[in-house]
Amino acid sequence: MVRYKSLEFLGYLIVIKKLISNLQPLITISQQNCSFTANSSKQMNIHEYQGKAILKSFGVRVQEGIVADNVDQAVEAAQKLKEDYGSDWVVIKAQIHAGGRGKGGGVKLAKNIDEVKEKTGNILGMQLITPQTGPEGKLVRKVLVAQDVYYPGDSPTKEFYISVLLDRAKGRNIIMYSTEGGMDIEEVAHSTPELIHKEEIDPKVGLQAFQARKIAFNLGLSGDAFKDMVKFITALYKAYDATDSSQFEINPVLKTSDNKILAVDAKVNLDDNALFRHPDFAALRDINEEDPMEVEASKSNLNYVKLDGNVGCMVNGAGLAMATMDIIKIAGGEPANFLDVGGTANAETVKAAFNIILKDPHVKAILINIFGGIVRCDRVAQGVIDAYNEIGNIPVPIIVRLQGTNAIEAKQLIDNSGLKVYSAILLKEAAERVKEVLAL
Ligand code: GDP
Ligand code: MN
Repeated sequence: MVRYKSLEFLGYLIVIKKLISNLQPLITISQQNCSFTANSSKQMNIHEYQGKAILKSFGVRVQEGIVADNVDQAVEAAQKLKEDYGSDWVVIKAQIHAGGRGKGGGVKLAKNIDEVKEKTGNILGMQLITPQTGPEGKLVRKVLVAQDVYYPGDSPTKEFYISVLLDRAKGRNIIMYSTEGGMDIEEVAHSTPELIHKEEIDPKVGLQAFQARKIAFNLGLSGDAFKDMVKFITALYKAYDATDSSQFEINPVLKTSDNKILAVDAKVNLDDNALFRHPDFAALRDINEEDPMEVEASKSNLNYVKLDGNVGCMVNGAGLAMATMDIIKIAGGEPANFLDVGGTANAETVKAAFNIILKDPHVKAILINIFGGIVRCDRVAQGVIDAYNEIGNIPVPIIVRLQGTNAIEAKQLIDNSGLKVYSAILLKEAAERVKEVLAL
């Protein structure tokens, strides 16, 4: 829930994340398979157990479960589920903000209390690596102990894929669905995209009954399962709409052996911009799942994205930040971050930005590139000097390029400060300085 100033900023940040860094973007099939990107708005991710609670409150049937922080709680949860649903079998599911948990060993069936203890013990505290976490994985702090819904019965179980998301270009909501749900949906989307269907919904009129029936029919259902699927889709769309969400992805949606339709998984992305309409959703945020430096930056109203390079940058304006990263690359460096200090670069923001950049041990130099339009360069220069003095000894060389109003005065201030700060007015000079200090 990083606070960006505008949607355009987020657009830039996403482009940067995807193009410049090696960060693994969270690819969901809805994003891969559409002409639009669902993540072009600000999203707040929540855990499966939280998403399921929201769905349930709108009448969407879900695989029931109880969240647990430790083995004792998991055992208690399994006992409660047995009382309620009559089966010893439960599923232990790692709660992290990433999909593909099953593939990474984060979803395990337990057939008795001993297995609940063993599997919960293994999953809690593990560094779970999935196709969506990146190579470092994510620490599991909670598990969802869920009822086993794949029990045998009169008809076979069947997994479907259903998501609801926004097509910004069309101004329509989309229900995406497939008969090929389950853990290999990414592969289906990649090699047989024709098996993924889309139903467009006009947000003004909402989901029409015939559309819900059409989807249930296309999913090959009949009888009770058909009826339950129509109910499921209707409730799911209502939940998506009423929560102002940007994406719901339910994979798998399960038809049980007794023809009930329910959500086994729930990837719910709430739209940050609409959170003020849902004050209770703020409590769903899990800061453990966010990059700690990005969390700190958001507190100081800085737009910060960590990258993998060695040159920290501090810039005002997203466009200039992009250009600055190009310059760093041309000079032979790699940007360590994207950081936009915004329109009012004063001593406070400059200091906060320094502190964040310096927490990254890979940073070998810092390039400050400020265009003085509304903000005067000499004030920024004074801010840099004050921040430097306050922080004390900054162990890496700093190159400051100030252009625009009072640029000359600013350069004089820096040059006369006696600090180990190189000043430049032209971007070319700044690039040469970066090259020089990297060669040291
Ligand atoms: P994901 O891997 O992060 O998408 O997690 P899911 O919640 O989708 O679960 C992964 C897989 O675990 C599902 O596709 C199912 O095959 C399996 N699974 C989930 N719940 C149950 C269950 O109640 N019983 C059994 N036998 N398998 C389950
Ligand atoms: Mn899933």
